[in-house]
Amino acid sequence: MNLADSELVLGLLDDDNYSLTEKMEDADVVMVNTCSVRENAEQRIYGRLGEFKAAKIKKPEIVVGVLGCMAERLRSKLNTEEAKGVGQIVDVIVGPDEYRKLPSLLNQAWHGEKGIAVQLSRVETYDDITPLRTNGISAWISVMRGCNKFCSFCVVPFTRGRERSRNYFNIINEVEELAKRGFKDVTLLGQNVNSYNHDGKDFADLMKAVAEVDRTIRIRFMTSHPQDMSDKLIQTIASKDNICKNVHLPVQSGSDRILDLMKREYTSNHYRQLISKIKTEMPEVCLTTDIISGFPTETEDDHRITMQMLEEIQYDGAYMFKYSARENTPAWKMADDISEEIKSRRIDEIVTFQNKISAKRNQATIGKVLDVLIEGDSKKSSAELQGRTDGNKMVIFPKENYTPGMYIKVKITRSNSATLFGTIHHNHLGVTI
Ligand code: SAH
Ligand code: SF4
Repeated sequence: MNLADSELVLGLLDDDNYSLTEKMEDADVVMVNTCSVRENAEQRIYGRLGEFKAAKIKKPEIVVGVLGCMAERLRSKLNTEEAKGVGQIVDVIVGPDEYRKLPSLLNQAWHGEKGIAVQLSRVETYDDITPLRTNGISAWISVMRGCNKFCSFCVVPFTRGRERSRNYFNIINEVEELAKRGFKDVTLLGQNVNSYNHDGKDFADLMKAVAEVDRTIRIRFMTSHPQDMSDKLIQTIASKDNICKNVHLPVQSGSDRILDLMKREYTSNHYRQLISKIKTEMPEVCLTTDIISGFPTETEDDHRITMQMLEEIQYDGAYMFKYSARENTPAWKMADDISEEIKSRRIDEIVTFQNKISAKRNQATIGKVLDVLIEGDSKKSSAELQGRTDGNKMVIFPKENYTPGMYIKVKITRSNSATLFGTIHHNHLGVTI
């Protein structure tokens, strides 16, 4: 979501004649887009601001900006101990719904005036702003902003405000434009895409329409809340070849007692039924999830039940986090009573266990020929390319004469828990199809 928002900001600034530089030393403006979802995300931002401070000492006219969720929380905190003395170097603070003000705030900052804009909006969707996308193959599109779910641990409804959906027709137009420019992979984003609604069009309608724009573009989405993922959405994903069979469905915990305290509004059985529907409609689906370990009052039994859920579902991958108490959230009022030591031990167990499952799921692809969209050179070697499968697995293979943006068939020869490796699959005529 933040990557997509940063592209929006770059789009706005591009229109105002700013351009992007690669190196901080060359910049007149340095900004950081921030996340408040966990404490360590915020700590990293303080570290980053420390680097900006060093740059500003060398070049005092640099304008420093803090964007995004942390701006909402920071407005009153930048001069406190928590900000570790870096607060005074910040010139502009802009929350997620006020990016349109950025050009004028930066302009004022050039004249030495600090600026802050952190109002949340019930209507802002940046519908008319074209994000500046530098990658050329994969694009994010935020189709809705904000969240009304108020899961008890989560700061997002407070930092990103209420739910609102973007115009259906404008999203389709944007995908048409991306198709013309050669993009091949589009991910529709929202904190809970199931709440998408524009003049009676729901998220399944939107996915179908977007998939029909260009059958060579892969469509993905993130994230669907398990409470209200509809059968219609599952059937829509199953019915279109170019909608990836890849579902991210955050379970958070396997324990019904903890799910209730988290205010997730579903039970583990509801979740199981959903997974079973998805697997029935799409046997080849790749499933991923999010887990929070060490939520207040979590017992060894609750922890064990979460591990059993991982065993039962056999996710292809998971994002796994230690619970981090966030100010003002409903769970903030509960004692953060699981010690750091226990949280660390539990999360290690979960990560080790899930990594084994991911490795096993990846191993099952060995010998298969998979359709891969080439994204670019592999991180380790320019003689190799990397790309993604429909299920969103990363594949590394020798380059031959292929280039980013092409679809090719790769025969998988080996794997680990994070990556597949293979060779390009040529048919009997020596060509790939
Ligand atoms: N809207 C998405 C989640 C956005 S936040 C959804 O509901 O699926 C991404 C993930 O961060 C969450 O799924 C959760 O696992 C994790 N997270 C959110 N708040 C957290 C907290 N206070 N401590 C630890 N992890 C948290
Ligand atoms: Fe946070 Fe829950 Fe909304 Fe996701 S659905 S953003 S976890 S409140």
